[in-house]
Amino acid sequence: MIIMNFERIKLIVGDNGSRFPYCTTLFIEDDVTVVVDPGAGERQMRALKQNSPVDVVINTHYHFDHIYLNYLFDEAEIWINTEEANCFRDKWEIARRLGMYEVYGPAWVEQWIERVADPRTPLSPYSPMNRHEWWLSTSRVDREYGPGEVLDFGRTRAEVIGAPGHTRGFCYLYFPEQGVVYAPDVDLTPFGPWYGGSDGSIDLFLASARRLIDLEARHFITGHEKGVLTREEFVPRLEKYLDVIDQRDERILQMIREPATVEQVTREGPIYGKKYLVDPWIYMWAYLMVEKHLERLVMTGRAMKAGDKYIAK
Ligand SMILES: [Zn+2]
Repeated sequence: MIIMNFERIKLIVGDNGSRFPYCTTLFIEDDVTVVVDPGAGERQMRALKQNSPVDVVINTHYHFDHIYLNYLFDEAEIWINTEEANCFRDKWEIARRLGMYEVYGPAWVEQWIERVADPRTPLSPYSPMNRHEWWLSTSRVDREYGPGEVLDFGRTRAEVIGAPGHTRGFCYLYFPEQGVVYAPDVDLTPFGPWYGGSDGSIDLFLASARRLIDLEARHFITGHEKGVLTREEFVPRLEKYLDVIDQRDERILQMIREPATVEQVTREGPIYGKKYLVDPWIYMWAYLMVEKHLERLVMTGRAMKAGDKYIAK
């Protein structure tokens, strides 16, 4: 389903309203035919490929929902940002960035690589942890791009805007002639900003999100749920979305009125509901997000750390 076009740039809304693990895909039909973040869903991506040969697939970052259908485009070049290109050469790089190495250690990572290599591995309940597409879609990179670069597809040009925070290499694509920016994981969902990997950062997320407003874009394309927003819609909603970070701080502060470890706070479910924590990846992301908030509370003088416990001041 294509809902809106900006000249040669078309939006393909993902299955289930682009809710994770789907995302809104861009399709650029120009001298070079380009798919950006092919996460809209298998049926849609297969149909797209059948109708027009795709020259290039661009991934804004290495997360599953943005890359998992790369493997369908076996005749296209695969491009990803320079910072994260090694994710497509070495699965350990994914493990280090996403948090597996930090939270579960090297033996667990070895087992994860074996699990995704096998298409018969049972799926994890709430995350794409065991999806075989990890194996299929991270096996090749043909070109790297970086912040400040201009990607030229014929009559359509995209500026690469570095946007660290969601992941370290995450980039927006800004189309100055059309006044449009694709900022897929500044998604304005009720869940709020996501910085749950070892490579995520709250402060960088905030700074990168606010930089969007400085672009002379009239339309903002999000990758999940919301779709396209005009500047008038986007600016106030962005602030509300970023407010979720402060709300998480407050919730976590309440949870450390008695001294508590990162694990104890995580088990209280301040980021993801408790039932989701049975999924090892959800627990891992929750843990890393809680840890980032606790460090932030210490840095801003609202909490103290004693040993491995945190306590509100
Ligand atoms: Zn992402």
